Amino acid sequence: ELVAFGPRMIENAKRFGDKPCVIDETGTLTWADFGNLVARIAGKLQSMGIGRGSMVASLAENSANNVAMYAGVVYAGACMVPLPFSATEPALIKERADCGATLLFTNEKFRETAEKLGAETIVDLAEIEAWIGDAPAIDPVEIQQDDLFDMIYSSGTTGSPKGIVHDHRFRARQFSRTASYGLEEDGVLMISTPLYSNTTLVAAIAGLVRGATIVSMSRFNTVKFLELSEKHRATHAMLVPVQYTRLMDEPRFDEFDLSSYQNKMSTSAPLPGIVIEQVMKRWPGNVMEFYGMTEGGPATVLDCAAYPDKWDTVGKPQPGADMRVIDEDGNELPAGSFGEVVGRSGSMMPGYHNNPEKTREATWVSADGDHFVRTGDMGRFDDDGFLHLLDRKKDMIISGGFNIYAADLEAVLRKHPDVSDVAVIAIPSRDWGETPLGLVVVNRKDADPEAIRQWTNDQLGKTQRLSAVEVRDELPRSEIGKILKRELREPYWAKQD
Ligand code: ATP
Ligand code: MG
Repeated sequence: ELVAFGPRMIENAKRFGDKPCVIDETGTLTWADFGNLVARIAGKLQSMGIGRGSMVASLAENSANNVAMYAGVVYAGACMVPLPFSATEPALIKERADCGATLLFTNEKFRETAEKLGAETIVDLAEIEAWIGDAPAIDPVEIQQDDLFDMIYSSGTTGSPKGIVHDHRFRARQFSRTASYGLEEDGVLMISTPLYSNTTLVAAIAGLVRGATIVSMSRFNTVKFLELSEKHRATHAMLVPVQYTRLMDEPRFDEFDLSSYQNKMSTSAPLPGIVIEQVMKRWPGNVMEFYGMTEGGPATVLDCAAYPDKWDTVGKPQPGADMRVIDEDGNELPAGSFGEVVGRSGSMMPGYHNNPEKTREATWVSADGDHFVRTGDMGRFDDDGFLHLLDRKKDMIISGGFNIYAADLEAVLRKHPDVSDVAVIAIPSRDWGETPLGLVVVNRKDADPEAIRQWTNDQLGKTQRLSAVEVRDELPRSEIGKILKRELREPYWAKQD
């Protein structure tokens, strides 16, 4: 199902009129309001000469106007570039220059930073009506499938951010996969991660195209999330793993009526089997875990209700996704082998913006000459075709010639009753080159790291053992909830030189 985004917005606005389209902290935009706002934003953009081939940036929190602005830019035929507000100022300055957007949307919280990024025009989303003025509503600008829809700067978990380009074909094909959410026009979708992350956008676009209602939170808070879910009778939520953990730890969780829920989606980091177990027990509806990347290509889904014995996998490739495993030298490995996961599908980025070298590095070419995206993730398909992910290649620990997957050690540590959050990293070792260190957040003050280490090592193979366990108050995470292992490793390796 290849849908044209702009025309679909007009169609939905007509069909769903008074039904809420986006609800945020300040109020509700009905579908009629939304359609009108989007068409007028596009009219204003057109009057400024912004359309096909233009890039428009934003640095803004989630809000109804943010969603409308995003849709308006795409409707005008331009490419939306939502800048990641969690990035440092120098990185944001580089990204704004890299995309070349002259118009930048922001909101109060980020206005000061926005003014330093070198854009010609800055528009506060709270004042969007005044900015539009009497610009007329226009018809959707006609686009080609390979016109750009948006560009997302990768979250930079493992290195410096890269601009990942998505064309209309990419978004349309990806949208057809979101059929597995079961999100239809009577759906109510909770969104509480930033709109600049691909995960959030995929869900938001699905909501808009299906004519559902989106409940947008600018900041995640467990009680607020539960209150809003109950109040708006939410049917779906797109959440990242750390949000599930925090909700399960919320003492008031069971006070709320969540019976309207049909499905919760999780992606962007591993959702541990023990967390799935709790969510399935305590929260009505299903859980679906997705594995993929902003670059597109690989795409798997795990339906947790259907496969209770596969909760430690990320599921099977989605229709249209071709996924394989390769070795260090780029040779394809037989089914069942461990190696780097590569994938290709209809939704695959044309490349990184202004970066042919990184694009080449991220591409694997099969014997048949087909292009695949290299994920940098290590994994293995089991006999039933489910993907077991181990680690990012960059997070793997090579100790005395053995590859140690942090994920294996983390899975054991996580089961210790005193432990509430974990990360295993490589630290330098004179004897072994690298050795695994366990960093834990504990749930009782007198927890003994040495006892936790021994308990864990008793369950691990000889070559996998943790050399030490350290207790931390918390583990650093990106805005989208990924543990920043690079940051955790740095001090240990800096000490070396
Ligand atoms: P960068 O590429 O800049 O380092 P990033 O890889 O974190 O950042 P994304 O494209 O947002 O940026 O994330 C894709 C990565 O997230 C995957 O390569 C994988 O490592 C991880 N990931 C996504 N979904 C899952 C999942 N369900 N389970 C485990 N890991 C996941
Ligand atoms: Mg990546």
